[in-house]
Amino acid sequence: MLIRVVKRVQVSENDTSNGHYFPNRAPLQLVPFQRLPPSAVKPDGWILDRLKTQVNGLNGKLSDISDYLVYTNCGWVDPTKTGWEELPYWLRGFADLGFVTGDANTLALTNRWIDGILSSQQSDGWFGPNALRTSLDGGPDLWPAMPLLEALRSFYEYSNDARVIPFLVKYFQFMNQQAPVVFSRGWSFTRWADNMDTIIWLYNRTTGNDWLIDLLTKIHTNGANWLTGLPTWHNVNIAQGFREPALYSLVANPADPRLLYATYHDYTLVMNQYGQFPGGCFAGDENCRTGYGDPRQGLETCGIVEFMHSFEVLTRITGDGVWADRCETLAFNSLPAAFDPNLGRGTHYITCANCIQLDDKAKTQKQFDNDFPMLAYKPGVHQYRCCTHNHGMGWPYYAEEAWLATYDGGICASLFVPSQVTALVGPGAGTMVTITEITDYPFDENIQFNIQLPAATQFKFYIRIPNWLEKAPILSLNGEVIFNQKTPENGSYLILDRLWTNGDVLSYTVALPLKTQIWTTNKNSVSVYRGPIAYSLDLNEEYTRIGGTDDWPEYSVTAKANWNYGLVLSSITEQSVKRKKRNISVKNIFAADNIPTEITVVGRRIPEWQADTENVVGLLPQSPVQSQQPNENLKLIPMGTARLRITAFPSIAH
Ligand SMILES: [Zn+2]
Repeated sequence: MLIRVVKRVQVSENDTSNGHYFPNRAPLQLVPFQRLPPSAVKPDGWILDRLKTQVNGLNGKLSDISDYLVYTNCGWVDPTKTGWEELPYWLRGFADLGFVTGDANTLALTNRWIDGILSSQQSDGWFGPNALRTSLDGGPDLWPAMPLLEALRSFYEYSNDARVIPFLVKYFQFMNQQAPVVFSRGWSFTRWADNMDTIIWLYNRTTGNDWLIDLLTKIHTNGANWLTGLPTWHNVNIAQGFREPALYSLVANPADPRLLYATYHDYTLVMNQYGQFPGGCFAGDENCRTGYGDPRQGLETCGIVEFMHSFEVLTRITGDGVWADRCETLAFNSLPAAFDPNLGRGTHYITCANCIQLDDKAKTQKQFDNDFPMLAYKPGVHQYRCCTHNHGMGWPYYAEEAWLATYDGGICASLFVPSQVTALVGPGAGTMVTITEITDYPFDENIQFNIQLPAATQFKFYIRIPNWLEKAPILSLNGEVIFNQKTPENGSYLILDRLWTNGDVLSYTVALPLKTQIWTTNKNSVSVYRGPIAYSLDLNEEYTRIGGTDDWPEYSVTAKANWNYGLVLSSITEQSVKRKKRNISVKNIFAADNIPTEITVVGRRIPEWQADTENVVGLLPQSPVQSQQPNENLKLIPMGTARLRITAFPSIAH
């Protein structure tokens, strides 16, 4: 057997593809990984529980209460009516929720909407509300269709419905006929990456449509310039848009390495300035503002799911596991806290790393860029409008992207979740493999893959090595250790090339290190991690019903515990970690009652660190901080569990 370790899965110019899932066709550059059809992955365990909660939660039941989602009054099925981004946002998450869970009601409602949308296309290729044909300086607003096209892609992969491909071809012909200036208008200007991805998808599934390549160039030329820094400081624009140069790098001929570099650089630019706290978000509580990088700032729920989506796309394009690491950072630490822990029928506009109260009051001292109430958990159909409709793709896409097809006919375990994948692998027409992944990751270090095959098959099995790993990853095949070495650089992939047989069992161990991180540009504050999960001070949250109905309750959350502590760094040792259960409960894993692991550390109160007059947590003091207060034992809980949280702490001077 051949085992290789690579920092990045790179495809050379001389490589040809024998991938089974529509790898890029010439002249597009080949990429390492392809998304599998949305029903290839069957989620299980905690992620299935999250998806079932979503079926009955805000995304799954939103059409019961949202006036934007009334079928008989929606411009996306009746062009004489109005509509904008809300239906496309909602249906993108809702459709994949149905495809990945198989929930009958979700699938039926998805089919109804998609039938209506496919039937509404007009002879020139346009679809959607007629009013949008002329709503931007007399020309069309091409933005709101973008998320809907992603829903149609998934629908096609799920159903093979013959209407979808001609529909997309016709729509992009309409787009291709637009004057260049149209591509520079509105929200589209910074968000073209969404459409580029869909155009590439379509090109790979059709022939005789070389004009799609020209359309990609037209978009790149007239859309926002992401090559020389950021063209916008709006949080969702950045989260969506920064992958544009990476996508265009697949088109550019001759190849231009500056394009891919620009995407990496844009990410670093925003995170160095505004992302210096745990959770993977950045300070964009609508736009990033110079000087506002404290962990009390937040990111929109839209920003969280769009950033995750970008990282999933970039994992596939670049073959660089760092993007998968970034995706799981958001999934475990930030996404869960964007929803109430009970029914999951409330969200909020922004999620912050340090947050001591979630209330429904406007903050009037410019603590945040927006001055409307953004923190309480509510359905928020109008108050949080975009986030309420857009959040749904977070978990379904995460489950679907857990497994990827590879350009060389192999398969990749990319994001580790309890699941089962069924996909074609190996030479020629391929052999259908089923791999069952059994794990409590990220709360446990062991991941087991059980392989079922109708016949012995040679293929490459790629496994991500997380970048936070400190000890050597351990890989065993049928009980025998086959790999146990430190890998040369943080984060990479193991590639196992062998003849796999039915019943093979692969065991993978990624020890979860306890680590601290110092945020030097945020007052030397400190955060505690175990593996990919950051830990927050348990503030003993109290939920108060502030409105809504029994079916759609609205909550504010207040702290019953003190929050203004600094940490005694010497108290953070492996002995601080307490595993509460060997086998974690799969029910509501990100709720305070079900915490699998907690960490006990020593801290002291810092009396001068206070909330402001509107109960927003005070800006971090410069660490180390002198405190004459007594030592106290503090309980830290997983950041995704904590809706109120101190996650970037001052440190206490010796
Ligand atoms: Zn939003």
